[in-house]
Amino acid sequence: MLLKDKVAVVTGGTRGIGLAVVKKFLEHGASVVLFGSRPETVDKAIAEIKAEHPDAAVTGMSPSLTEAASVTEAIQAVQAQYGRLDILVNNAGISARESLYNYTTEQFEKIMNLNVNAVFLCAKAAASVMKEQGGGVIINTSSMVSLYGQPAGCGYPASKFAVNGLTKSLARELGRDNIRVNAVAPGVTRTDMVAALPEAMIQPLVATIPLGRIGEPEEVANAFLFLASDLASYVTGEILSVDGAAMN
Ligand code: NAD
Repeated sequence: MLLKDKVAVVTGGTRGIGLAVVKKFLEHGASVVLFGSRPETVDKAIAEIKAEHPDAAVTGMSPSLTEAASVTEAIQAVQAQYGRLDILVNNAGISARESLYNYTTEQFEKIMNLNVNAVFLCAKAAASVMKEQGGGVIINTSSMVSLYGQPAGCGYPASKFAVNGLTKSLARELGRDNIRVNAVAPGVTRTDMVAALPEAMIQPLVATIPLGRIGEPEEVANAFLFLASDLASYVTGEILSVDGAAMN
C-alpha cells in the first residue's frame, strides 16, 4: 500500500494508460477522482472498476480541461469532497500524424490546447491546493517522442517537448512548496491511441525497441505509482522513460 489515504486526480482516466494508473493507485490505497471528457465514458470506466472491486474509492467528473474556470471548479470540488488533493496526474492527451503540408492550424491548436494548456491549467489549480496543505505531487505524461521528435505529425512531439519544459520548470518553482513535479515518458504502449495506428507503422517501431515488444499500460502505470509514492520523495524534475529503450 504505497498510497494509503492519498487523494489523487487522474485526467483522461477513462481508458488506456490513465485507466491503468487509476486502477494501480486504487490498489495501493488511494482515493481517486478520474477526469474524462464525457460523463458517459466516466460512468463506463467507474462501472468497469466497480465490477472488479465494488468497494473501490473512485469517483469521476468531466470538466473541460482546456477552460480555466471549469478546471478550477473541478479541483475545488475535489478539495471540498476529500479535504485535500495529494496527487495530480496529467494524462489526457491526443495526437495526429498529419504531414506538415496537410496540418491545419485548428489541428495544431487542438493538440496544444489539450496536451499543453490543460497541463498548465490543472497544475495551476492543483498546486494552489497542494501549497495550502503543505505539499503534493504532480506527474505529467510525456512521450518518447519528446526526446527525438517524430517524422510526421509535428504538433504531438512539440506538445510533449512543452510538457517536459513545464515539468522541469514547475519542479524548480514548486520545490519550495514541497510539491514534486515529474513526468513519465512512455514508449509505444498498447492503448487505443496505438490501436489507431496502421500495423505498417507499428511493426517498424517494434523493430527499433531493444526489448522487442510494445509496452503494456500497467507497466507505464507502475512508473506513475513510483513517482506518486514516498519512494520517490527526493525525485523531482525528472522525465522517466518507460519505453524498452526505444529510439524512433
Ligand atoms: P487513449 O487515447 O487510450 O486515452 C486518452 C485519454 O485522454 C482518454 O481517457 C480520453 O478520454 C482522454 N481525453 C482525450 N481527449 C480529451 C479531452 N478533450 N478532455 C479530457 N480528456 C480527454 O490514449 P493513451 O495511449 O492512454 O494516452 C494517454 C497519455 O499517454 C497521452 O498523454 C499520450 O500522449 C501519452 N502517451 C501514449 C503513448 C502510447 O503509445 N499509447 C505513448 C507515449 C505517450
